[in-house]
Amino acid sequence: MKLGLYIHIPFCRQKCLYCDFPSYDNLTHLYQDYIDALCREIAEQKSRFSGWVVDTVYIGGGTPTVLPGELLGRLFASLTATFSLEPAVEITVEANPGTVNLPLLKALRSWGVNRLSFGVQTFVPRLLPLLGRVHTAEQGIEAVELARAAGFDNINLDLMYGLPEQRQADVADSLSRATELGVPHLSVYGLKVEDGTPFAVSHAAGKLALPDETEEEAMYDFAAAFLRQAGYCRYEVSNYCLPGYECRHNLKYWHYQPFLGLGAAAYSFVDGVRWANTPHVTEYIQAQRKGALAIQEREVLDRQTQIAEFIFLALRTAAGLDSGIFQERFGISFWDAYRATIDTLAQRGLVERCGNRLRLTDLGMKFGNIVFSSFLPDKA
Ligand code: SF4
Repeated sequence: MKLGLYIHIPFCRQKCLYCDFPSYDNLTHLYQDYIDALCREIAEQKSRFSGWVVDTVYIGGGTPTVLPGELLGRLFASLTATFSLEPAVEITVEANPGTVNLPLLKALRSWGVNRLSFGVQTFVPRLLPLLGRVHTAEQGIEAVELARAAGFDNINLDLMYGLPEQRQADVADSLSRATELGVPHLSVYGLKVEDGTPFAVSHAAGKLALPDETEEEAMYDFAAAFLRQAGYCRYEVSNYCLPGYECRHNLKYWHYQPFLGLGAAAYSFVDGVRWANTPHVTEYIQAQRKGALAIQEREVLDRQTQIAEFIFLALRTAAGLDSGIFQERFGISFWDAYRATIDTLAQRGLVERCGNRLRLTDLGMKFGNIVFSSFLPDKA
């Protein structure tokens, strides 16, 4: 059995103004204790997952590369001592420009890391401080150059559109920089103003100069057309890559395959059960010290929920939903069970049938939420 591993590092140098991820700044004093706790949690998985082969590892955050190399080295030693890693395992580490240097990147490479994901967001210098990002545009370019010098070719950049004071020309500028750098993978996300963030407060006070809906839609269309022209294949709603550079770990989520999450706030999904660790770093550390579980929520997913999740995750991918896999997994015909929903969505130009698959059209990619919500148990 194949397993994906997600390891959460909940630390950042500074909290970005739009971010509601479980990540914290000013916790340098907890780095050592956190890695001790994480290594303990990893070691505890040995018996339960002894028959599994790990084919993807994703170390995300937060900003894993704020940790000193020595602590990251301990983390990798713990992973390899506990899990059986496939020889061709994909190991991704998230990083932010300004938190990497050549020795650290070379060390990551020597520990088996073969994919890096940099949170660049934009290459336009005037926009970065508006987001509360700690790095400069030059550091974004430098991060890619350092990664290459350390031996990485599988590199992702996260980019955002719909930012305060961003114009379409800024989106064009960032996409040009990214493609000129030749990185093989780009994740392109629209900004969402999340509750509880400084952006939400500014937005409520009318102080956030966001592009309007039409401008944001134009940025979205521009990015999709630009990247297609540049030879990038869109393989998921927000993800583009050169041939062969799909992120195998993220494909696991969209293919509804099992993954184990370790660390504070990490989610897991194994055998139809989903659970999440506490997002509170000190609570997580204390639980591991006591040898107790750090699980905060646990849900056994009923069949209807699993079917709905399988459908909307599969439809996020450009390849779409494979009705053969659906039938094998759930024992019913996808086409028979959802005929009316599919017909309605197809008439609206949002989905199309292609052989044994149902997939989003270009319009459906843009308005994916309409499609996904149509398959929820009370709607379909
Ligand atoms: S670097 Fe990433 S995880 Fe950290 S605060 Fe910024 S957006 Fe959030």
